[in-house]
This record gives sequence, structure tokens and C-alpha cells, in this order.
Amino acid sequence: MSEKLKQDHYKVAPQKHEGEKTSPHEEERAPKTDQYLLGRGAQFNTKNRFLKNEKTREHIEGIDDWEESNLATQYIEQESKTIVNNVDSPDVGMSYSMNPYAGCEHGCIYCYARNVHEYWGYSAGLDFEQKIIVKKNAPQLLRKFLMHPKWQCAPLMLSGNTDCYQPAEQKYRLTRAMLEVCNEFNQPVGILTKNSWILKDKDVLQEMAKKRLVSAMVSITSFNEDLRRTMEPRTTTAKQKLKVINELSSAGVRMGIMMGPMIPGLNEHEMQRIMKAASDNGATFTAYTFIRLNGAIKFLFHDWLFKNFPDRADKVWHLIEQSHDGKVNDTRWGVRMRGEGNIAQMVAQQYKKYGKLYHMNAEEWSLDTSIFRRPGEQGRLF
Ligand code: SF4
Repeated sequence: MSEKLKQDHYKVAPQKHEGEKTSPHEEERAPKTDQYLLGRGAQFNTKNRFLKNEKTREHIEGIDDWEESNLATQYIEQESKTIVNNVDSPDVGMSYSMNPYAGCEHGCIYCYARNVHEYWGYSAGLDFEQKIIVKKNAPQLLRKFLMHPKWQCAPLMLSGNTDCYQPAEQKYRLTRAMLEVCNEFNQPVGILTKNSWILKDKDVLQEMAKKRLVSAMVSITSFNEDLRRTMEPRTTTAKQKLKVINELSSAGVRMGIMMGPMIPGLNEHEMQRIMKAASDNGATFTAYTFIRLNGAIKFLFHDWLFKNFPDRADKVWHLIEQSHDGKVNDTRWGVRMRGEGNIAQMVAQQYKKYGKLYHMNAEEWSLDTSIFRRPGEQGRLF
């Protein structure tokens, strides 16, 4: 770890700042750099930027014993006020998103949604994977939203921030209930997931596909199981993800592949293989992102990288820096998702080349917004 980063790391992660409020679980928030928690991406909790909102044990309902629950996943059930969010970033390809869960047990180390967990009062580190906020009234909120006469139908993105088929879905089935609402209203939906649990909703997805109301993307970053297991510890294997693409595309659902993120020196060389395999299994469109490490992710990813790939960590880190104007974080619209410089350009060229070769993005296609109707309303004639 470079001296500069080491200083930053320990500044934001474990140490108490002068005048800082003491947290009862402060000891547990310190990084345990000599230990490795299998099944987790992050190995420690970074300090929440919004410290005054930081949750302490007594704020979290349902936790009887902090020590015991420290490594287990906790579901924090909430009644939310809203479920559909406006997305104002011009380079993410969606206008509205909905996320029935905040935090994500999949625990991908590079996940940009980690930083959002700080707004909820938690850490972007282990908390993000362990403390999952469950918006129990999400389907009801969605129904209310769609009933509003001002809603002008536009596609909604499920998993705009966190994965809607993460393990919490097996218990709560909120995504399923939301899809049923969308189907009832003829509301089009885009889905992005890293979990094969989506297959449980094949029936409703198939119905929606017949009306051109759904398209889904599965995210695959590597066929190297050792890499996936540490980088995205609780996601489905690449093999199972190909099965998802195969089964759902055979059922008539338009399927795509997301390769995000491509990381130089770790997985960028797998792009062709991923695109070919996805295409062979029925995917017809594709997208990718290039790694960037904003906010707390910089510290989490650095720790992960040097623990898991000590042989090439320095090289990978420098390649990421080279691709973002000398830094690893990047907030510049347009550039941040793709990077710049030689490596990023090479990835972009490969993407274009193999997209053409495997007939990805070949067709013009859009979700149907013309048949939206509220229950009790006549369908629109024009
Ligand atoms: S599955 Fe998606 S939302 Fe969940 S941790 Fe991974 S990248 Fe983040």
C-alpha cells in the first residue's frame, strides 16, 4: 500500500477523529487487515462521511447481540415513502429506477452503490453487505405511483442501484410483487442482475415479454471462479448466469449481457469469451463499464486487491490510475464509465469489434410504453 493511500485509508476507516462521537461498536469498525472474511467482499467498515447519521447498535431494530450478529446478514425492514427515483445522470441509460432493497448481500468489492449506503447511516464497507434495508411496502408504493394521473409511462429500471434478485428476494419476494404490478399496468421494465433467482419469475417475465414490456441483462465479469468468488462473493457463477440467459431467451425474454466493470490486469482479457458465450446462449445486446473507484470504494478495493493479488496489485492499481487521468476515482460525465488512455481505448475497441462479431446490439429495439393503462381505465387507442 502506498504511503499516501495508507494515510488516507486509516484516516477514513478506523481511527477516531478529535471531537468525534464515539460509536459503541467502534472496535469492530477497525479494519482487521490480518484476517480475511470468506464470503464477504469488503473486509472492514469505512467511516461514514455523514457521521452524524451513523447508526449505532441501539438504532438498529432486531439486533440483540452485536457481537453475534456482526458477521451475519441482517434485514432491516422499513416502510419507505417513495420507490421510484428520478435518475439525473446523463450517462447511465435510464430515467427512473426502483430498488426494493438498499445494500446488497452480493458484496461486489467494486460496487458503486456502496457509497449510497452512507446516506442510510451505514458504512460502505461490510455494512453494505450485511445490513440490508428492506422496503417492505415497495409494491404498494409502486402501485400508488403508477395510479397517479401525472405519470407519463416511461421504462422503469429494477436494480438501478442495488440488485433486485439479491438473497433477500428469496425471503421477501418484493421484486416478484413489483413485476406483477407492472404486468397489471402494462408498465415496461428493464432488469439487471447477477443472480439466477430471476428464473423464479420466468412465468411473469414471459407474459410481459409477449407484450414487449421487459428486457433483462445478466452481469458477467469473469469465467474465473476464483476471481468471482472473492470479487463478487455471493453472486451466481458465470455458468449459472449463462443458464439464466439461455432459459429466459428461450422463453421469449429479450436478454442482454452487462460486463461491468472491466478491470485492467484482472478481467479485461475475458471480454471476447464472455460476449461469445452470452451470444451463444441467446443474448442479443450488451453493455460494459470500466472500473472507477469513487468514495469509500477506493479504500475497500485497494485492500481487497492487495490481499488477493499481491503479485500484480501494484500494476493493476496503476493501470486504473492511468485510465482516469492519474486518479482511480472519476466523476466526469461521459468519461467516468469508460475511462480514457491506451488501456481504456483498447477495451472500447474490443467491445466494438466483438459486439459486431457476435451480433450484439444489432437490432433496433425498445420497450413498449404505448399500452400502459391503469386498472379500470380503457387502453389508449393511439
Ligand atoms: S450485484 Fe450489483 S448492486 Fe449488488 S453488490 Fe454487486 S454490483 Fe453492487
